[in-house]
Amino acid sequence: MLRLFRNWHIRRLLREELSPQQLQWLNERISIRARLRPEQLRRHEAIVRVMIARCPWEGCEGLQVTDEMRTLIAGHAAVMLLGADNYYFDSVNAILVFPGVIQRKDSEDPMTLGEAWSNGGIVLSWPEVRATTYHRGARNVVIHEFAHHLDGLDGEMGGSIPFRGTDDQRRWHEISTREYERLVEDVRRDRPTVLDPYGATNPAEFFAVASECFFERPDRLRSHHAELFESLGRFYGFDPS
Ligand SMILES: [Zn+2]
Repeated sequence: MLRLFRNWHIRRLLREELSPQQLQWLNERISIRARLRPEQLRRHEAIVRVMIARCPWEGCEGLQVTDEMRTLIAGHAAVMLLGADNYYFDSVNAILVFPGVIQRKDSEDPMTLGEAWSNGGIVLSWPEVRATTYHRGARNVVIHEFAHHLDGLDGEMGGSIPFRGTDDQRRWHEISTREYERLVEDVRRDRPTVLDPYGATNPAEFFAVASECFFERPDRLRSHHAELFESLGRFYGFDPS
């Protein structure tokens, strides 16, 4: 019954349109849209509509989540679902938006700009999302945290992302292990890297950082890490270059 209602609600949302203001935010601020074909643009807007309406948004520490915040956060995350069939971040049970740096209690690292929880929560610092959106660079906290979420859909956020086919799964394991070790070695030797050195922390961070690079710097990733780029393309079902 719940499933039927979900499908009916999503079909209804897919027929609706974004407001001219929401469309303007997406066109001006989500730079990857310039690379999308017309049918991909329509699909991107549809996913944004579903996310805005169905994800549980919550402002923290007195922050009011505005239409602009929802549109831009959904706008970044929706790019990751362009190759998905019928998943709209349904398993995200809270998107918590903070007005500044997020303080953590029981952690070695007491401050953060974003987090993804294994129970389905996503935590984002709005100033960091804004910085991602308004000063384009290789980093993207929204893609980073939603990548952790997708990684956790198989029950564990460990960098062994869930592919549909076992061949793709095996290939990802081989390539990501090799590339992770290469990054660890490059960081240890202080060599310049295309991937954010933070990816050398562990395989889960490696996947999140590689996803940021895949969507934000696809051409650089493809020319320096062709196999990694190709394997991520199989996972996301999409070629951002
Ligand atoms: Zn992370």
